[in-house]
Amino acid sequence: MTYQTDLSTLLNRQKAFFHAGHTRTYAFRSQMLQRLQQAIIEEEQAITSALAEDFGKPAFETYATEMAILLAEIRFTRKHLKNWMAPRRVPSSFLNYPSKDFIYPEPYGVALIIGAWNYPFQLTLAPVIGAIAAGCCAILKPSELTPATSAVTAKLLRTYFPDDYLTVVEGGADTSQQLLHLPFDKIFFTGSVPVGKVVAQAAAQQLIPVTLELGGKSPCLVDETADLKVTARRIAWGKFINAGQTCVAPDYLLVHKSIEQPLLEELKTALTHFYGTSPKQSPDYARIVNDRHFQRLSQLLLGGTVFAGGETDADERYIAPTLLTNVSWQDAVMQEEIFGPLLPVLTYNTLSEAVQQVNAQPKPLALYFFSRDKKAQEQVLAQTSSGGACINETVSHLANPHLPFGGVGPSGQGNYHGKYSFDAFSHQKSVLKKPFWPDLPLRYPPYLKKLGWM
Ligand code: NAD
Repeated sequence: MTYQTDLSTLLNRQKAFFHAGHTRTYAFRSQMLQRLQQAIIEEEQAITSALAEDFGKPAFETYATEMAILLAEIRFTRKHLKNWMAPRRVPSSFLNYPSKDFIYPEPYGVALIIGAWNYPFQLTLAPVIGAIAAGCCAILKPSELTPATSAVTAKLLRTYFPDDYLTVVEGGADTSQQLLHLPFDKIFFTGSVPVGKVVAQAAAQQLIPVTLELGGKSPCLVDETADLKVTARRIAWGKFINAGQTCVAPDYLLVHKSIEQPLLEELKTALTHFYGTSPKQSPDYARIVNDRHFQRLSQLLLGGTVFAGGETDADERYIAPTLLTNVSWQDAVMQEEIFGPLLPVLTYNTLSEAVQQVNAQPKPLALYFFSRDKKAQEQVLAQTSSGGACINETVSHLANPHLPFGGVGPSGQGNYHGKYSFDAFSHQKSVLKKPFWPDLPLRYPPYLKKLGWM
């Protein structure tokens, strides 16, 4: 049997499980969410070790950004699930009298979930919470770049769930391609913009509904009214957590010319507070995921003047938290998503000019603006487009399950978290119900008599 047939067989088994109706009830979904919660709690040590092995992820960051987020999401989903699953009555149209109209959320069926490596556990399992809640089965394909976490995820699902319902297929781009040719009912992809296009094309071939959680260059604007100490701390945290390998990390700073120097100084101070004078020794600072990304980032580093950081160590795949000045829009570091611990600092003279520069780039996944000026805050929100935004904060919008998380245009399609995850795996079915009586004859042919023409 070929690998392709194996995967087809697996998909067919999941389709049979789905069509047998096991996943339809609230009791089943709630129980499966509880089981996932239990699995994460029981396997905490193995998950933490896997992430440390893959890219030296600090234990605290693993707990806060991988496990705690998933556990909070499961709690929130279990609390609201019954309500989300219930058919919703909507007003009827006068023309359909006497009807009662509803929206029935129905599970798409069997979902394919393809994950990225940067938060390899959380990003693969967060969509699974939505899939379970919506009543779908799912096959997960974690990233091959974090093999220890991929193996732990596979083992965890195998231990706690039947593979006819939820399972992991490990492998790289080839495996992903094979899966993308199969007739799934939903595809949920997290990853880069170029691969997002490949996934969108494959989904289009079979008209499979698709959610794309992509990336891009998320700008961070700072005006002259901002509290620079707090701004520097919040930017440095959002940028250098996970060594900058975060889809919503501030990619570059665009700051008012008058505060460039004091902000740079505050950023330097914040970095010393966070990681000490030698971040390489800090237990709280991660490494670059592989040699290819280390080489890519080392090249980008040459694009500007190093204001702070700049040290690298290929053996450890270590790149210091680095602030870059004298960077222009034409430099390589401004041509691609950085996805690492390099923070270029560019300046502007007027806010309109900054907005124009942001709008000249593809729509980003996130946009951050630090300012005390409420009018300026609204101006930036109204005149730019991004998947999400924070005022006087970075990254944290993704931790509120009441907010949809996703991109716009080139940074993604669709969204998830909280109820939005349930919706991402559900079809909203329109249902109209009527009694047999009365049956008003007005709409039936022949029409002419009704108009009094014959
Ligand atoms: P990637 O696109 O290289 O890989 C993502 C997944 O796609 C992996 O599982 C990989 O095996 C698979 N893949 C790779 N090449 C493929 C191909 N040709 N055909 C089919 N599948 C293929 O992304 P990555 O390097 O793992 O992650 C980094 C990117 O993901 C960044 O751009 C980042 O911004 C983005 N990201 C977005 C979010 C979000 O929630 N929006 C979260 C994390 C990362």
